[in-house]
Amino acid sequence: MPGVVETYPWHAEAWQALHARHAQGRLPHALLLDGPPGIGRHAFARRIAGALLCRQPDAGTGDACAECPACRQFASGSHPDFRHVRLLLKGESVGGKKRDSDASQILIDQVRELGTALGMSAQHGGWKVALIDPADQMMPAAANALLKTLEEPTPRTLLVLVVTHPRRLLATIRSRCQTVTLKVPARDAARAWLAERKIADGEALLAMADGAPLQAMQLAEEGAAKARHKAFDSFLAVASGREDPVTVAAAWSGADTPRLLGWLGGWLVDMIRIKQAPGMSLLDNLDLGDRMQGLVEHIELHELFARLDELQRARRLVTTQVNTQLLCEELLLGWRPGPGN
Ligand SMILES: [Zn+2]
Repeated sequence: MPGVVETYPWHAEAWQALHARHAQGRLPHALLLDGPPGIGRHAFARRIAGALLCRQPDAGTGDACAECPACRQFASGSHPDFRHVRLLLKGESVGGKKRDSDASQILIDQVRELGTALGMSAQHGGWKVALIDPADQMMPAAANALLKTLEEPTPRTLLVLVVTHPRRLLATIRSRCQTVTLKVPARDAARAWLAERKIADGEALLAMADGAPLQAMQLAEEGAAKARHKAFDSFLAVASGREDPVTVAAAWSGADTPRLLGWLGGWLVDMIRIKQAPGMSLLDNLDLGDRMQGLVEHIELHELFARLDELQRARRLVTTQVNTQLLCEELLLGWRPGPGN
């Protein structure tokens, strides 16, 4: 369901059980969604909300249709019968008070506002759904206010409490919720899921992430971001004559060469854009814009186009059996500054 919620294969069992409960009219007023971070708990909570708010959910799976007006409102964050209570950020306000720092706990005013909203009838005449995430980071006064809301449930209202440490909740809150536990998927399934997303080193990443696939994916993205910056630093060092192209080519050669050449291609396209139309607004690599700007001052546009041609050729070659060290050397040697620069 693009645009509404992400669904993950390791949620299937918990989802089916919950859908069956709903189909039998046995949904409680409050669910405690328990499990470790990095496995999509929030997405699961949103999946429940989307399904309840949708006007024509799928009869088989129970999932939201993603197309009706309610689904579109939910996806855009404007559904009037949906609330998400979370940690407030600096500059956000509640109860007329503006935060001067990021909150580390959910505040009583947030829970009071939620209680008021849930006490009114649904604007669309259907379900009202509220997510509280992270529900185990609530101020004691907020927890007491939530308890009051749970003690006076209104019909067709569902509260979903997302927690990492259920024991940090008041026992009286826990006892008013039904627990749904999401688990870390089997290692094989998690590895296969990462592989489908073209993430290398799945095993090592999963080990660092305690088996949580989304956490592993985030680590991969952070690693890629760092590697991209490092590659740009070394590229710039070659282009400004501070680093030997052969040394950098050795570091760039190997299994990672296609990815590095892909990045270099993106930088080159942006450098051409800078040359053709000064101003950074159209760049793909906005974070590197200033440094690319400095570099292209000494290079003619026609040279950049010639290097782009060379690079395209190299990118075609790199997929065949080729010496990646030589290929990278050939490309990087061309970037050494000339005597005039
Ligand atoms: Zn729908």
